[in-house]
Amino acid sequence: MLKAIKDVIREHRSAAIYVSHDLAVVAQIADRIVVMRHGAMVEEGPTAEIIERPKEPYTRELIGAVKPRPTSSRAVVAAEATAKPLLETDGVSATFARAKLFGSLTMEDNVLQDVTIDVRSREVVALVGESGSGKSTLARVIAGLHPSLSGQIRIDGKALAPRARKRDRDALRRIQVIFQSPDLSLNPEQRIEEAIGRPLELYFGLTGAKRAARVAELLTMVGLPADYAGRYPSELSGGQRQRVSIARAFGAQPDLVLCDEILSSLDTIVAAQVLELMRDLRAKHDVAYLFISHDLATVATIADRVVVLYAGRVVEIGPTASVFSPPHHPYTALLLSSVPALRQGWLEEVIATRPPTQAQTGASVPRDIGCPFRTRCPMVIQGTCDRVAPPARHTPGGQVIYCHRELDELRAAQAESGVLRT
Ligand code: ADP
Ligand code: MG
Repeated sequence: MLKAIKDVIREHRSAAIYVSHDLAVVAQIADRIVVMRHGAMVEEGPTAEIIERPKEPYTRELIGAVKPRPTSSRAVVAAEATAKPLLETDGVSATFARAKLFGSLTMEDNVLQDVTIDVRSREVVALVGESGSGKSTLARVIAGLHPSLSGQIRIDGKALAPRARKRDRDALRRIQVIFQSPDLSLNPEQRIEEAIGRPLELYFGLTGAKRAARVAELLTMVGLPADYAGRYPSELSGGQRQRVSIARAFGAQPDLVLCDEILSSLDTIVAAQVLELMRDLRAKHDVAYLFISHDLATVATIADRVVVLYAGRVVEIGPTASVFSPPHHPYTALLLSSVPALRQGWLEEVIATRPPTQAQTGASVPRDIGCPFRTRCPMVIQGTCDRVAPPARHTPGGQVIYCHRELDELRAAQAESGVLRT
């Protein structure tokens, strides 16, 4: 997208104003940068000046909030390897298509296909993949908000009913969801005390003063003033509203929180603060996260393990440090090489070194027995990848990569391409 926008500006010889909170993106496209805050211009200058020699403290803070590109050197606290799975999805498939009266659904209709993952107690498992890969659908299936076509969801080894309304109260309490947009998940007509208090009533029977005290406690826990209980969502900033969603989820004392792109609607600095809160809450509570994100740099700093989804299928899964170092599934390599670096010229280098096959062709993604990535894969083996399901390859680092290529072939190709360097 970034390349297309840049090309079109050049071809039309237009001037352009690119509005963004992502400095690494802006660095690829802008000649000059204007930094704004609270409606006023803070600093202005050529891109290189602003990025390399910011003068104003706020600009420095903005640049400081840009996370380094994901690397394998980032140490993360691994959950105890012995821990039993808290949540398991076992061969889950799901579709949005409706079965016709006389026809039946085929694999091609599935937006999730045979997804098997697990999350252990207190573990953070990241779910990554491009838009449309099925991340939100998987979260919705786990939460019982979208019926699966086949497969099973288990918590502590016990099967959960596919639909939330068939699950008992305790099963509902144990799995909480936080969505990307707090604007959609908070009722604008409801005060914060209702938003947070309702589940307290439902799950723990708290009412009156007890409920109010607990709401205050939860608000404080997420870094908000307790008297915000009386406010409406519209009286809060986006970051504050997301904190309310977090307080509501934690009020249920869940075992697992499904976090679906919870930072995506927030600007860089606020997102960093909310991420810090999530890390802090995780350290203080007995809680596991399924952390859905397309932001690999964020994932690298919070996840114990990473699941890479492509076209509704798991293509790679493993400990964070292993997934972020070669060998990678060719799709993971593409994802990693697509994270913009905070310097000028990154975009041109990536485009120059990227095999032409990896450009998004607009052709539909294959959803059959073969490898879903084969139409974009620079290492495709014709006659194999389109006919045979990719085998699971286990690395010494504990990864599983679903690919027809040998691990050594992947390693060699990825060392050579050099697109992954920062
Ligand atoms: P992600 O969260 O990874 O961006 P989603 O789970 O939202 O992906 O979507 C997965 C696929 O399901 C996409 O191809 C999308 O087009 C399709 N899809 C999502 N929501 C609907 C819907 N309400 N009706 C039909 N298809 C949908
Ligand atoms: Mg989504």
